[in-house]
Amino acid sequence: MQNKKNQPATEEQKIKDILLREDYVSAKDIENAEEYARKTKSTIVEYLLGQQLLTRDLLGQAIAESFGVSYADLNYNQPTRDQILAIPEAIARRYRAVLYAVKDDSVIVATDNPKQPQMITALKKIFPQKNLTVAYSLKEDVEATFVAYRKPLETRFSLILAGNRRVAPEIIEEILGDALIFKASDIHFDPQEKEVVIRFRVDGVLREAGRVPKEHYENILNRIKVQAHLRIDEHFSAQDGAIRHSKDGKMVDLRVSIVPTLDGEKVVIRLLGEYVRSFTFSDIGLSAADQQLLAEASKKPYGMILVTGPTGSGKTTTLYSLLKALNKPEVNVMSIEDPVEYKVSGMNQIQVNKQTNLTFAEGLRSIVRQDPNIILVGEIRDRETAEIAVNAALTGHLLFSTFHANDSATAVPRLLDMGIEPFLLASTLEMVIAQRLVRLICSSCRFSASMSQQELAAAFPKLAPYFNQKSLTFYKGKGCKSCGDTGYKGRLAIFELIPVGRELKEIILRNPSSKQVWEIARRDGAHSLFEDGIEKVKNGITTIEELLRVAAPPEQQPQAMR
Ligand SMILES: [Zn+2]
Repeated sequence: MQNKKNQPATEEQKIKDILLREDYVSAKDIENAEEYARKTKSTIVEYLLGQQLLTRDLLGQAIAESFGVSYADLNYNQPTRDQILAIPEAIARRYRAVLYAVKDDSVIVATDNPKQPQMITALKKIFPQKNLTVAYSLKEDVEATFVAYRKPLETRFSLILAGNRRVAPEIIEEILGDALIFKASDIHFDPQEKEVVIRFRVDGVLREAGRVPKEHYENILNRIKVQAHLRIDEHFSAQDGAIRHSKDGKMVDLRVSIVPTLDGEKVVIRLLGEYVRSFTFSDIGLSAADQQLLAEASKKPYGMILVTGPTGSGKTTTLYSLLKALNKPEVNVMSIEDPVEYKVSGMNQIQVNKQTNLTFAEGLRSIVRQDPNIILVGEIRDRETAEIAVNAALTGHLLFSTFHANDSATAVPRLLDMGIEPFLLASTLEMVIAQRLVRLICSSCRFSASMSQQELAAAFPKLAPYFNQKSLTFYKGKGCKSCGDTGYKGRLAIFELIPVGRELKEIILRNPSSKQVWEIARRDGAHSLFEDGIEKVKNGITTIEELLRVAAPPEQQPQAMR
């Protein structure tokens, strides 16, 4: 996201004026954005982008205008690798400059700060015979092109091995560096007969990153074990540890798991913390309308909010965002989790421990005695936990938890089946949320294509009712270096929210089916997971194919679109 905290306030003022003058956004939007920026110590631009009131392209154009130069859209017109390498790395990074276009006797260089006199001098030395024009591009778009300067992991491994240097620490450093750049969630070290395959999990998908000859593995393994405070002399049983890794002033928590296999000890490192900093509702994909509903439901001092979805659907992240929004010094927040996925400052987090018999139910019992205002229970898995949770929610606590159910409406009959008294559930349940993760279209190689209503109906017959314009614009990723040729980069969630109002509370007393629950929710204006996904397709955030991968169109007719 564009960060202008370091630029003088006049820049932000200029951008604001242009956005208003050219009708990019309304005065009301700016007003809301300013209030948000003040409250959250962020910028108005972060708000406008997060709320999808402004696209990055329009923002780029507005900022370019404020500098009095033209806008270079690096997503639309991607520079080739040779073009990027034409400017030496040191200069490119110092001025954040990339060669955008070359014509016979002229070059256009894009940068996020066109007002750098030394940059012009440096560029004139690189392109002596050319007419030089400077254009503006968003900072993160310029920086995304710098991946071209990075040599493949494999090449860097060979250099390290040939250099006869401190092989293990340097190789680990390179692997971690790449994992952070590509925002990997896990690093796998898979020992095979002759070599060790390094793989990254990025956006939920594992891919190979490089290979190391097996003779160096013992040193690498030992170094990881020492840093994670594990036993070096133990080779035949599983071990778990943690490393606090600091890189460029940023802290990343690494969770290390080692398991013996026939070809040696396999290491999996999970990267935590690095992507946790923001955790805002718009980052996780919650629309403005849904944010409003969630804020409403969590305003009460007691009650229960449940998030449902399969494993790996981002439920915990949603709960952390909710806690982050509600966490204030005067509020006592406690959690029982298995495992504690992220450390949240100002929150007392307890980890489930089977060895000491600290289960969800036991942990929750002791938490209630500690006078918390808000309680997070990692998951409601059994009747015992469900009963304590409902009682806690009934006796003046706001309780958040996750629950295994396919959609939000199913959660109600499933909780009743578990043996929760209907009147207790009716008086505590405030909201049920269902969610799935979708991959985002890579912003570095995104392009748009139009489709007629007929073409859409032919390709995706079930989707036609969701689109009522004659000609439709869809977005996709072409595939580029920055997304590993997948066309996708990053993920966010699609949501389905059911606020439990009076009518729903009444029907819960009568053991309803999930269909009955959904019908009432529908009448109250709830939209389905799929409909939220369609909005995200229309906004160019994800693709139809990706949406269909994680959610099916419901049987009923679509709700009137927001
Ligand atoms: Zn891409």
